[in-house]
Amino acid sequence: MVESSGTFLRPVYRRILLKLSGEVLASEREALDLDLTIKIARQIARVHALGIQIAIVIGGGNFWRGTTAARAGMDRATADYMGMLATIINGLALQDRLEKIGVQTRVQTAIEVRSVAEPFIRRRAIRHLEKGRVVIFVAGTGNPFFSTDTTAALRASEIGAEVILKATKVDGIYDSDPTLNPKAQRYERVSYLDALRNRLTIMDSTAFSLCMDNRIPIIVFNAFQEENLLAVVQGKPVGTLVWDGEGEPVAARSDRESTAVPGS
Ligand code: UDP
Repeated sequence: MVESSGTFLRPVYRRILLKLSGEVLASEREALDLDLTIKIARQIARVHALGIQIAIVIGGGNFWRGTTAARAGMDRATADYMGMLATIINGLALQDRLEKIGVQTRVQTAIEVRSVAEPFIRRRAIRHLEKGRVVIFVAGTGNPFFSTDTTAALRASEIGAEVILKATKVDGIYDSDPTLNPKAQRYERVSYLDALRNRLTIMDSTAFSLCMDNRIPIIVFNAFQEENLLAVVQGKPVGTLVWDGEGEPVAARSDRESTAVPGS
């Protein structure tokens, strides 16, 4: 999977969908920690510099989760709309951090907020990606009762992303909870069906079945290790790959253009 040219590792993807949970932007001090956000932005910038097209779906769980509020007695749809608005706040923060370090971005929203972001328009999003802009999708699907994981699966399918990179606080998927079981083993790779059989929680069921039906590989990795995102796009065995095709994901998508590598 890793193509090596001299000492440099080439990226193995042309277009990726990065799913950032709200929690990766949160610290103990702040729900939205700008220092953490700039660290994530720097990781994204390094991948962007390789010529990879990057779309991002951002969550809102650091501020608000519809299901939590609904359990406390709130109307679920209203609570979910609040959650979608939270993702817009995160998206704008990430946009600011990326642009401060010279990465051009566009925010596209599934709920109209005309003065701060453009509406989601699939073909326009693809055009931005082709022009080298990082596209940040906010407001989820625009519908209550869904999650931003489902949004990631949906947008990845719509824009033809080769892989979903799910950035989390954990190193990947384990056969049991590593915080409770010191002998827990991390899977390097697991098929969709084994993930279902073993009840491994990777995404909610709607998101997971969309990925499975559309055969979108998912890589779950730890966003807090600074080299990880770069390592993942270079095909290094970081985190857990969820997929059941033969070989590695990129080989299976040979219908796509080969990865554009600047200077190659
Ligand atoms: N949400 C929604 N529809 C969507 C996406 C998100 O209603 O299509 C709401 C839902 O209430 C969710 C919240 O937005 O709890 C924040 O999204 P999510 O929980 O997926 O964020 P993450 O866990 O990734 O930070």
